[in-house]
Amino acid sequence: MKTENLHKPIDKIKGVGPKVKEDLKKIGINSIQDALFLLPKKYENRTKITEIKDLISGDAFQFEGEILESKTIYPGRRSFLAKISDGTGILQIRLFYFSYAQAQAFKVGLTLRGYGVIRTNGSVTQVFHPSYKIFESSKRPILDNTLTPIYSLGSSKLTQFRTRNIIKGCLQEIKEINLNEKEIDSIFKEKKISSLSIKDALLKIHAPSVSDDIIKINNYKDEAQERLIIEELATNLIGVKIASEKINKLKAKQMEILKKDLSSFVEKLPFKLTGAQLRTINDISNDLSKVKPMRRLVQGDVGSGKTVVAAVSMYISTKNNSQSVLLCPTEVLAEQHYKNFTEWFENTNIKIELLTGKMSAVIRKDIYQRLEEGKIDILIGTHAVFQDKVKMKNLGLVIVDEQQRFGVKQRFDLVKKSSNKIMPHQLFMTATPIPRTLAMTIFADLDVSKIDEMPPGRKPVETLVFSDKKKNEIVKRLENVCSKGNQVFWLCTMIEESENLDVQAAEEAKIWIKENTSKLNIGLVHSKLSKDERDKAIEKFRSGKIDVLVCTTVIEVGMDVPNASLIVIENAERLGLSQLHQLRGRVGRKADLDAFCVLIYQGEIGEIAKARLEAMKSTNDGFEISEIDMKLRGSGEILGTKQSGGVELKISDLSRDAHLIQKAEKLVDGLKNVDQKMSKVLLDRWIGDKQNLIIAQ
Ligand code: ADP
Ligand code: MG
Repeated sequence: MKTENLHKPIDKIKGVGPKVKEDLKKIGINSIQDALFLLPKKYENRTKITEIKDLISGDAFQFEGEILESKTIYPGRRSFLAKISDGTGILQIRLFYFSYAQAQAFKVGLTLRGYGVIRTNGSVTQVFHPSYKIFESSKRPILDNTLTPIYSLGSSKLTQFRTRNIIKGCLQEIKEINLNEKEIDSIFKEKKISSLSIKDALLKIHAPSVSDDIIKINNYKDEAQERLIIEELATNLIGVKIASEKINKLKAKQMEILKKDLSSFVEKLPFKLTGAQLRTINDISNDLSKVKPMRRLVQGDVGSGKTVVAAVSMYISTKNNSQSVLLCPTEVLAEQHYKNFTEWFENTNIKIELLTGKMSAVIRKDIYQRLEEGKIDILIGTHAVFQDKVKMKNLGLVIVDEQQRFGVKQRFDLVKKSSNKIMPHQLFMTATPIPRTLAMTIFADLDVSKIDEMPPGRKPVETLVFSDKKKNEIVKRLENVCSKGNQVFWLCTMIEESENLDVQAAEEAKIWIKENTSKLNIGLVHSKLSKDERDKAIEKFRSGKIDVLVCTTVIEVGMDVPNASLIVIENAERLGLSQLHQLRGRVGRKADLDAFCVLIYQGEIGEIAKARLEAMKSTNDGFEISEIDMKLRGSGEILGTKQSGGVELKISDLSRDAHLIQKAEKLVDGLKNVDQKMSKVLLDRWIGDKQNLIIAQ
């Protein structure tokens, strides 16, 4: 295939009309190549149907049966119940979120085929919110003959089904013609990095055969995935190198701050800064005073107080008549920072604004305008700040919170926001200890400050490990915590990351708690709720109106509710240690508060899984935990190291894939000896049209 063909607009593919084209555009897909590089986030096995009598609680299955009965249930919370049978047993299907039309479609006598995690409750076998289709028994659709890829479709209206068909169309295109990048494939072979060609890797990753190991592939350990991860890491290495060479030639605004100005701001903060925070601020203010653009990484464990360091840095910027941006990975976090900043900057004339995707067009437009006029000093926002419409009059400082969530592309996109010729200073903040191998490569060009001290009075979070068989024992603990006026996060992890399963897990947890104690107010946050409902629940929790917040991964990054003193994590064995540590950091954020983390595992778990959970008990130090994690993972155990929304990297995860970095370096090395065009091909593939921003710096 000629590269031009890859760049053909996506509407050349059958089934892509103007509306779908728009939907695809929303998730960054304009060309055939873009679609091919929308890589599945996980796979389901829908090649077979399991008889209802063989369904096992806790696992996901595809099932099929005739609809016997369906009804909407009142009173109380409206819900929907249908029963299907295949002659071997009866399965109940329950929906908590459904439309009238959806309920109507469950006509008795039709056949339903669905996929979801099975739960048994006494003698009742049920499934909550499965994905499903309904048809006449004479019109049974054929079964998939490969593992079924599931794509991240963000908030677009695309369905998995449609997306799969579009991608099938694109795969058809690459089957027919050779990809024009033999050079890259041959470096992979020569350097013994991988023997798979990019074409074969793509064909496989979008349609793995049934005989492929689904566990391996869902853990990103398949050779096709590794081929792609290595390529993406290599591309990032190339991008970082090109960009940092260019940036180093540029000039930033020199920002000076009087000692007394700085201390008068710091003294008004509601707490005394720790030595480590002060040291870091000192590093930063030193950098800011130079004409060379700052590029600094602040590493500090969860709860070490990075946000206030960002605030002080932005204060310095404002005092120098420069605008600054704080970029956050989630809306919840952006809003929380905004709230804190508003407090810390009270009684100053510094203008702070929040910009997120959910704000109305009118409000956003007003913000765009004031940013361009220089009337906003500090902007706190999510991805929304990347929009082309966001232009800043005099952007001097960019701060990226939880920086591991953003790829190179974003870092450079932001920097281009300044309308003047000045290069903004850049500060990155992370709690995820970055493995040494990575720190030495991808972040080679960054200076590092460590906040290696916790605010005073913090007690280590005491961690307990329970089997789900002993789940009842923690009810007392919940009641105790709440009777003291403290609160509980209850986190459900899913077997697979899917919206439907997330709802199911959360609903079930809520029901379980309700059944076991009547004393507590329980709130719920999951993906089927609108942003508004979600925000309301979180706000109620924050203000103490809710005792227990049952949630899925929404709270994962950065959420700060100082009054929360217990976090319960179900199916903890599925999460990576670093992620568990992040989650645990949601509690114990206040001086002298006794905080607990209860890890619940399901069923029988292996030795290594046990060792991992034990490790959580033994230390509260994020760096130590990441070392243990690497060691245990290195030993070959494949455990759920769920992608924690590495939104911007298409397939790699910087901590999960650290072991592949050496191979990526080999590839970069090999590329040096071939035509420059090949680096361009890679940048094009993985960073897309945004690469111009890097090249043209
Ligand atoms: P993280 O480093 O995880 O981003 P945060 O910035 O959210 O941590 O800070 C965690 C909590 O500690 C917040 O409630 C914050 O206000 C508080 N905090 C930060 N610095 C201090 C300090 N020096 N003394 C007391 N509390 C602090
Ligand atoms: Mg933080």
